[in-house]
Amino acid sequence: MANRVTAIYPGSFDPLTNGHVDIIERGQRIFDRVIVAVLVNVEKNPLFNSEERVHLLREVTGCWDNVEVDAFDGLLVDYALAKEAKVILRGIRAVSDYEYEFQMALMNRRLKSSIETVFLVPAEAYSYLSSTLVKEVFNLGGSIAGLVPSVVEDYMKQKINSDRGKI
Ligand code: ADP
Repeated sequence: MANRVTAIYPGSFDPLTNGHVDIIERGQRIFDRVIVAVLVNVEKNPLFNSEERVHLLREVTGCWDNVEVDAFDGLLVDYALAKEAKVILRGIRAVSDYEYEFQMALMNRRLKSSIETVFLVPAEAYSYLSSTLVKEVFNLGGSIAGLVPSVVEDYMKQKINSDRGKI
């Protein structure tokens, strides 16, 4: 029990993509427990609020017993300590992710040296996929089938229809 390793997978998940799901799946195979932690205050204009993002993540990750979903605010290392997590899990898509992720990993190490950042690489098919791109394609009327879980796609369609109804 004492040697169980908990990993925190933090992110905005606005929206959750199949790239994120790929990383969660790989993570839950390696770690005893994975906590997917939704950053509460991400951008000024999020597509989904944090409750919606948590809800969608729970729907999609419900099949894995060792995956939990939570929301957090503030310093990631403090949150990780509170959850007794030794690992911060991050996904690396391309070389372009590396610089930012490298900075974050070293800053987090400086803040709390006992926590290690572990990077996982997604399936090639998801290596170009980002939440921003999904939102752009969707807003322009392009198909996002296969890029996000179907429950997320349905939710996005509902959202756009209800927003149109308000205008
Ligand atoms: P952030 O806004 O903190 O980058 P995201 O929700 O966009 O949060 O991403 C959370 C984590 O998932 C980051 O480590 C990011 O690199 C990773 N990630 C995002 N999209 C993909 C993808 N398509 N494949 C693998 N990892 C990804």
